[in-house]
Parts: sequence; C-alpha cells; structure tokens
Amino acid sequence: MKFKEFGIKKDILNAIRKAGYEEATPIQEQSIPVIMEGRDVIGLAQTGTGKTAAFALPILNSIEFRKRARVRALILTPTRELAIQTFENFKKYGRYMDLKTVCLYGGAKKGNQLSQLKRGADIIVATPGRLIDLYNEGVLDFKSVDYFVLDEADRMLDMGFVPDVRKINSLLPEWRQMIMFSATMDKAVEDLANQMLKDPVRIQVAAQNDAAETVDQRLIYTKGELKDTIIIQFLQNEIKNPENLSLPRKDRKNAIVFTRTKKGADRLHKALVKAGLLAVSIHGDKTQGQRKDALDRFRSGQVQILVATDVAARGLDIPKLNYVFNYDLPEESDNYVHRIGRTGRAGESGIAYTLCCEDELHLLYEIEKLMGKEIPEASTEWSLELDRTKFKRHNKRNNYRRNFARRSYGDNKNRPRRNDKHRDNRNNDNHRANRHNDNNRDNKHSRNHRDNRDNRNKNN
Ligand code: ADP
Ligand code: MG
Repeated sequence: MKFKEFGIKKDILNAIRKAGYEEATPIQEQSIPVIMEGRDVIGLAQTGTGKTAAFALPILNSIEFRKRARVRALILTPTRELAIQTFENFKKYGRYMDLKTVCLYGGAKKGNQLSQLKRGADIIVATPGRLIDLYNEGVLDFKSVDYFVLDEADRMLDMGFVPDVRKINSLLPEWRQMIMFSATMDKAVEDLANQMLKDPVRIQVAAQNDAAETVDQRLIYTKGELKDTIIIQFLQNEIKNPENLSLPRKDRKNAIVFTRTKKGADRLHKALVKAGLLAVSIHGDKTQGQRKDALDRFRSGQVQILVATDVAARGLDIPKLNYVFNYDLPEESDNYVHRIGRTGRAGESGIAYTLCCEDELHLLYEIEKLMGKEIPEASTEWSLELDRTKFKRHNKRNNYRRNFARRSYGDNKNRPRRNDKHRDNRNNDNHRANRHNDNNRDNKHSRNHRDNRDNRNKNN
C-alpha cells in the first residue's frame, strides 16, 4: 500500500518521499489507519520493519499546528540512544511541519533540556528516569497529552521500568491514546499492558518473538578459550578484506559484537584493538559522551566494529550493518531476537553468528524455545561437537532466575532486593536487578525514585 492512500497530510508525504520510501511495510499498513481512528494499539512486528514510522506518522498527522507549551505526544524508550534515534525520526518525518520535538534522557546536563522545554514542546521523546526527574522539577505538564507511546514495550514493562511507566501514565489525561510496539512480547507483559490500554487493537504481523527473516542465523559450538580467536580471525578476514576497501568507509563490512557483561565488553574491545582492528565499545558504565561518541564513529564508518552489551540490543537502526556476533549468549532470551535484529533491517540481508560453549547450552535452549526454532549450525574450523543434553544440568538454576523475576512483577513493595555488593559483582548490563543502573540514573536520582515509589505505595 502506498503512503498517499492513508490520507496523510502533504507535508508528511513529502517528508516520506524525501526519506526514500514508497510502500508502507506490513506493520505500517495495518497500524497507521487504526491509530488514526483513535484506537489503543499493541503492535508486534519483527525487528527492522519500520515500527517507528508506524506510530510516528499517524501521530504527526494528527498534531496540526503548534500550541505553545502543550505536549501532545509522549514517547518512551528504554535507552538514551534509542530516544535520540526516535527523536531524529520525528524530526525527519516532521521536517516540513512547524512542530517542536524535544528529547530528554539521562547522562546529559539538564540545563539544555530545561531551556528547550521552557520554549515549549509539542512532542517529547524520553527515557523514563530523566522525564520523571524533570517532571519533579515542575517544568513539565502532561495535561494535554493525546498520545502515549511505549516503544520496545515489553522492555518498558519489564520489572525495572514498571514503576516509572505507571507513574508517568498516572499523570496523563484519561483520554490519552496509548500505543505499544515491540518485536517480542510475553504473556505476563501483555497482561500488564492490558491494564493500561483501553480496548486495544492487537496488530501482529509475524509469529510472536519471531526473528527477522532477513537475518541469516548461524550457530558455532565452541569453547570459551577460542572465542577471541574466532572473532579476531573472522573480523580480520572480513573487514580487512581488500575488495571492501574500495567502498566508501560507511559501506564497508562492519559488525556489532555483543557480550554479556560490561567487563567482558571492555576486555574484548582491548583484544580487538590489540589485534589491529578498529573498534569502539558501548555499555552502561561509559559516560553518555563516550556512548554517543562510540555510536557516532561506528555509524559514520570511522570504525568497523562496535563491541556492546545489551544496552545496544534494542531498537538501534544502523543501515548496512553486515554482521552481528553473539560473543556470549544473552541471559534473557528475548534479547537474542533483538540483538540479531540490528542487522537485516528494512529488507536488507545480514548474518548473525552465535558462539556457544558448553556452559551456555541452557541459554541456547531457552532462546530456541522462545523462537520455536533451532538456530542452524555452521561448521567452521573452530567448531566443536557439543552434547546438547548437557544443558539440563543448568536448567534448574535458570528456572529459579526466571521465577525470581516473575514473582516480583509489578509488586514493588514485596520485591526481593539484592544487596548492592552482589549487584556490583554481577557487573552485568542486562540483569533485571541492574536495569535501572544501566538506564541512566545517578544514585541521587535512584534514591528519589525509590522515595517516590515508596510514597506512592503508602498512598495506595
Ligand atoms: P523497527 O522499529 O521495526 O525495528 P525502524 O522503525 O527502526 O524498525 O525502521 C527500520 C528501517 O526501515 C529504518 O532505517 C527506516 O528508515 C526504514 N523504513 C521505515 N519505513 C520504511 C518503508 N516504508 N520503506 C522503506 N524503509 C523504511
Ligand atoms: Mg524500533
């Protein structure tokens, strides 16, 4: 279906044309009319299928003109980088409109964000922590919000974010239209979502938790000691490949390598650089300046390799990314679908290699169960025969972890808390208990946040 058939305004159609799109993707085709009708929506579609425009276009279409200091749309994302990217998307599609979009995220000075807000915002794209922070300073008014969007909805409704999202939701007017998008969803999260949505339309264009078809998935069974060698040799062959050098830098072969821990990311980054590869890294312990710089250099093609924790697993859109490597398997299976979805976007093709050693078999089992598919094995010079039944040994522990997380959904008062020492020791960007740290708040704010939450619980 062509964009002009939706009855979208000319200014937006021109911007779409300028972006180079002609046909709407399936999720756009189904969501845009429903959102334009004013219905709440849960939208599920694979990574890289244009979910951002699926909500941005109908929102822009309904916000006719500037009303000073009246926020009409509020979009929440789980990471700062995704907030910035979504903000850029709104600017791209709204380029011929007289609208003001503001992006609010942690790790950056508040001054600039405050002064932008004071000049009035029509659309806000934000990470929840900073948004609440600024709300508490009295500079935000949500009384005229018509649209409330959770991008990466399952992550936003995952344990760490629930209190923030609920708090923000409680500040919005009754009539607001709520929209949630993700590539993955599970029953518990969807139940939670249904408490906030009013008579939602559920739009699903692929099987739940399906990986993008455009990604060629390959599994390499190996052992931990060999992982560095595999990555280094592979990347040296591919990325330093002379045929590649004739291409403009940004189009040369490039790769994101995901590790499970921040320490692991730092260590691998050093090893790659030592092996003569151009690499940068990104994780939750880096400053926002470092995170931005790393991503900018990778996007622009200055460096060919990005080493990242799961902080980069969700939502990031880097066109022409050739490879994703899973140096370690992710602890949360849904993140596998998101990690590999950084490649094979907008109809392009990509390859995702997963290195799996014996003590990760239980994680592999969970991922394959989630997707309802086995990841095809690639035999390489480094491949080992592994006995897949061995995962059973680890399975008990894994179930315990999952149940630990489940039990605590949405019930903050009784939530078991891990002590801080333990948390630091995990050094893990992705673990549920750690998500808040990673998502960009300083300790002072965590304290405020906890106080707010406890007060709210008392009030209830
Ligand atoms: P998702 O959120 O589903 O992972 P994004 O919204 O990030 O996907 O979009 C992925 C890529 O597809 C982006 O580079 C975007 O510019 C591009 N895109 C979006 N809509 C279309 C379209 N209708 N035709 C072609 N490309 C599109
Ligand atoms: Mg997205």
